[in-house]
Amino acid sequence: MEYSKLAEFYKKIEETTSRIEMTNALVELFKSTPKELIDEVVYLSIGKIAPEYTGLDYNFSSKSAIKALSVVLGIDEHEIEKKVIETGDLGEAGYQLYQEKGIQPKEKLTVEEVYNTLRKIAETTGYGSTKKKLELFVSLISKASPLEVKYLLRTIIERLRLGIGDNTIMDALAIAFTGSKENRTYIERAYNLTSDLGYVAKILVEEGLEGVKKIKIQIGRPIRPMLAERLSIPEFILKKLGGKAGAEYKYDGERIQVHRKGDEFHLFSRRLENITHQFPDLIEFMKEAIPEECILELECVVIDPSSGAIQPFQMLMNRRVKYVTRFHIMMYPVAGFIFDIMYLNGQDLTLKPYPERRKTLEKEIKITDRINLATRKIVDNTNDLEAFFHEAIENGCEGLVCKSLAKDSIYQAGKRGFLWIKYKRDYTSHLADTLDLVVVGAFYGQGQRAGYFGSLLMACYDPETDQFKTVCKVGSGFTEDDFKKLDELLKPHQIEHKHPRVNAILSADIWYEPYLVLEITGAELTLSPVHTCAWDKIKLNRGLGLRFPRFTGRYRFDKKPEDATTEAEIIEMYKNQIQIKI
Ligand code: ATP
Repeated sequence: MEYSKLAEFYKKIEETTSRIEMTNALVELFKSTPKELIDEVVYLSIGKIAPEYTGLDYNFSSKSAIKALSVVLGIDEHEIEKKVIETGDLGEAGYQLYQEKGIQPKEKLTVEEVYNTLRKIAETTGYGSTKKKLELFVSLISKASPLEVKYLLRTIIERLRLGIGDNTIMDALAIAFTGSKENRTYIERAYNLTSDLGYVAKILVEEGLEGVKKIKIQIGRPIRPMLAERLSIPEFILKKLGGKAGAEYKYDGERIQVHRKGDEFHLFSRRLENITHQFPDLIEFMKEAIPEECILELECVVIDPSSGAIQPFQMLMNRRVKYVTRFHIMMYPVAGFIFDIMYLNGQDLTLKPYPERRKTLEKEIKITDRINLATRKIVDNTNDLEAFFHEAIENGCEGLVCKSLAKDSIYQAGKRGFLWIKYKRDYTSHLADTLDLVVVGAFYGQGQRAGYFGSLLMACYDPETDQFKTVCKVGSGFTEDDFKKLDELLKPHQIEHKHPRVNAILSADIWYEPYLVLEITGAELTLSPVHTCAWDKIKLNRGLGLRFPRFTGRYRFDKKPEDATTEAEIIEMYKNQIQIKI
């Protein structure tokens, strides 16, 4: 398969402003892909070579990419840098320079060659790797056309900026290989159990839908996490859960999915990155505490080892480093509170009800100083629920996660639902909770911030339509350092027009690919004629907007845009807010 096909596909996606066209372009691409290449094409369609959890990154700087261009074009690096500044984008600069030089390669680049070389680049590490990576990339772009070089450059520096989400890929796979979007549910279940769309696509193409239905949990492949809905009134929580709930402390730390087979451990973050190297101490503690073959979930927090007291969340952020040393381990000692188990000795437990999974944990986990179970209480009245909530807060937690005890309380991989309800009241406003919103655009500021953005257009996520819908324009809560940091974080994701998955009425001065999630608080949710969240769902020609929004200072790097607060959650919060006021 020729790489030019992929390059044309990227171009089409970049130009479109419609999500349907985006899906259609993917369907066309997948249909024209030879069977044996489908996994590679799925990864490459979003600029990757493997699922995120493998941690395989190119680790290739823009500087190296400029050097590679200078080798192939035989021109000075400064000249290329000038072009990058002029066009504002390395890919575009490469495209224009190739055109100016009239470069048209004799050989055709194939997808196989691109994939294999990119993979080699990612796998090359250690001493001398920068040079080796450079040589490999030079070999690739010396065979590229102007359009191909544009996307190879963007791919290698991880700035493809197409914003294709998992849901769009799953829709396209279902349409391309089963003829109907309806079958996406099977693809989605398999994906939720393995987190690898390339793998699922390969099974789909080779073994059909029946093969996909048989896909099972595997040690080493993360399960997509089950997520909680939120409610802020104890009566409603108990009512929703049938009058009785398993209330657990909601620890404010980092969610970790642990996979163990003997001495082999894999740790995955909330967004399923491989973070095994970050917690060698936790792994040691787990060796004596958890079963030899299992997959479970815990919340990791920093503690004071002498008292066992939980330390604030910010302390844990000090462990987010590339190389964890003895210093980090001594200064920020961690403990794990296990709250679920999904797999034990070859058996999938995800379809077992929560009370049974909890019983399994109680039987299988050996409690130690550093590994414990999430503190839990069965509650059936609001007084007990409130009292337990305050106890959790006093013990350094954020609140409670109230869990269904019903027969159907399975582990819903990859789903946010009411089987788990989080209760973490924010007393400072009518809002039940903060919102995690995605930056989709920006507006220029005034005064000191003239010429730079002064406020950001923020959106929630609607999984039904796979769209980002706006909720507020936020300009407060940012420090000068935040503005600087945001500028650096957002610039690489700037795009020419509104992203096809963004649904907005307001016209921003700058548009971004949905990428960055920020925690936002505000006074209350109100009906709005300019925000598209919940449009027509509560009142005709009105959406929901957040009044007096403020950035809390918390960057949610642990969340992908699709993990942002959903439209349904905001509608629920709006309804609760009305009831609180009454
Ligand atoms: P948040 O921003 O509140 O952490 P989230 O989107 O990461 O939300 P939710 O499913 O909405 O995740 O809330 C549950 C989160 O609370 C889990 O992701 C987990 O990190 C954390 N947590 C802490 N204690 C528990 C517990 N006992 N059971 C389940 N989750 C817990």
